[in-house]
Amino acid sequence: MRTTTIIIGAGQAGLAMSRCLAECSIDHVVLERGEVANSWKKERWDSLRLLTPNWQSRLPGYRYEGGDPDGYRTMPETIAFLERYAEVISAPVQSQTKVTSVSNNDAGYKVTTDRGEWHCRAVVLATGACNIPLVPAVADALPPGIESVTPDRYKNPDQLEEGGVMVVGPSASGIQIADEIHRSGRPVTLSVGEHIRVPRLYRGRDLEWWMDAAGVLDERYDEVDDINRARNVPSLQLAGSDDRRTLDLNSLTSIGVKIVGRLANIRDGKAQFSGSLKNLCALSDLKMNRLLNTIDEWATENGLDGEVDPPHRLEPTRVEAAPPLQMDLVGGGIRTIFWATGFRPDYAWLDVPVLDRKGRVRHDGGVVDSPGMYLMGMPFLRRRKSSLIDGAGSDARDLSEHLVSYLDD
Ligand SMILES: Cc1cc2nc3c(=O)[nH]c(=O)nc-3n(C[C@H](O)[C@H](O)[C@H](O)COP(=O)(O)OP(=O)(O)OC[C@H]3O[C@@H](n4cnc5c(N)ncnc54)[C@H](O)[C@@H]3O)c2cc1C
Repeated sequence: MRTTTIIIGAGQAGLAMSRCLAECSIDHVVLERGEVANSWKKERWDSLRLLTPNWQSRLPGYRYEGGDPDGYRTMPETIAFLERYAEVISAPVQSQTKVTSVSNNDAGYKVTTDRGEWHCRAVVLATGACNIPLVPAVADALPPGIESVTPDRYKNPDQLEEGGVMVVGPSASGIQIADEIHRSGRPVTLSVGEHIRVPRLYRGRDLEWWMDAAGVLDERYDEVDDINRARNVPSLQLAGSDDRRTLDLNSLTSIGVKIVGRLANIRDGKAQFSGSLKNLCALSDLKMNRLLNTIDEWATENGLDGEVDPPHRLEPTRVEAAPPLQMDLVGGGIRTIFWATGFRPDYAWLDVPVLDRKGRVRHDGGVVDSPGMYLMGMPFLRRRKSSLIDGAGSDARDLSEHLVSYLDD
C-alpha cells in the first residue's frame, strides 16, 4: 500500500498532525495499534483527572465548548474529547494496526505493520513520550514479597495488597497516587527527589491560566539556555479536582503521608534515602517563588493588579528536623513499592539510524535527522507546552509546513 505520509499514533499529537496535513491536502494515513486515545484508555488510572483545565485543550479546528471551562476532565471525558476530535476532522485512522518496523527505502520509508506494509515519502512519529515506565535499577534489590507497581498498570488502590506502600517520585503522578492510596487506608511513605511545587490557584486564577497568559508555555526550544535540561525537568506538582485544591508535600503530610528523601539504594532489605530532602524542598520553594514573581511582574506590566487577588506566598514545605535515612522495608510493613519515576518512549520498531546513545531520537525541534521524518509529542519538542494536549496544535502547524516544503523539493 502506498500513501504520501504515514502518521504513527492516534493520540492528540497524531490527530493534530492529521488535521494540519489535511488542510494542506497531503494524502496520509494514521496507523494506531489500539484505538484513538489508546494511552488514555489503557494506561491511566481510574480516578485520574487532567491537570490542565478544560479550556486548555485547544486543537487545530477543535476546542472545548462546554459549560465548565475551568473544570478538569475525567478519563472518560478525555477519551470522548479525542474520539470526537478524530470524528470532526475525519482523521483517516487505521486502528488495531501495530507498526513493527520503519525503515528507509528508495522513495522514502517502508512502514511494516501487523496488517501489511506501507510505502510513503514522509513519516511522523507520534507514538508518545510515555510508553515505558522508568524504574530505577535499585528495584532489582527489592526483598521478596514486596510488589512493584508502575502508573501504567495501576487502576485503583483495591488492586494493591493491604499494608504499607512506598511511592517513589513526588511529581504529578506520584503525589496524586500517594494521596489516593493513603486515603484508601494504606499508610504511604513518599520518597522525594527533585520536584516542582506550584499552587493550583494563584491570585484567584488557575496556575495554567497564568503560565499560558504570561507566555511561559509558549517559550521555544531555541530560546532556552539549556534545552537538554529543560526537556528533563519533572512535571509540575498539580492535580485536577472539583475543589481545585493545591496538592503538595504539605497537604500530603497533613493527612499523614510520611515524607523521606530520594531513594538512593536498597541493601539487605533496607531502603536508604539521601540526606538532601531539606535542601530539595527549599530549592523547590525557591523556584516556585521565582515563578510567582515572574507572574506578578507580568500582571503589573499588563495592568491586571486591580482585577485579580493580591500576591501571596505559600507556607514553606514542612520537613522533619531529622528525616530518616533508612527504612526496613520488610519489618516496616511495606507491601508495595510504587514507581512514579517517569516514563520513556519505545522505539524498538524504528529501524532508521536516528537514535542517539541514550536511545533518544535525534531531531531539531521535531525535524528528525532523516529527511522526511518528523517527531511529535515529546517534552519541550518545540515549546514548553509540546507534550500537553494544548501544545500539539502549534507544533503540528510548524512541522506540517516543514513537511510540505520537504515534499515540494
Ligand atoms: C499520567 C499522565 C497524565 C497526564 N495528564 C495530562 C494533562 O492533564 N494535560 C495534558 O495536556 N497532558 C497530560 N499528559 C501528557 C500528554 O498529554 C499525554 O501523555 C498524551 O497521551 C500524549 O499524547 P501523544 O499523542 O503525544 O501520545 P499518546 O497519547 O501516547 O499517543 C500515542 C499513540 O501511539 C500509539 N502507538 C504507540 N506505538 C505504536 C506502534 N508501534 N504502532 C502503532 N501505534 C502505536 C499508542 O497506542 C497511542 O495511541 C499526561 C500524561 C500522563 C502520563
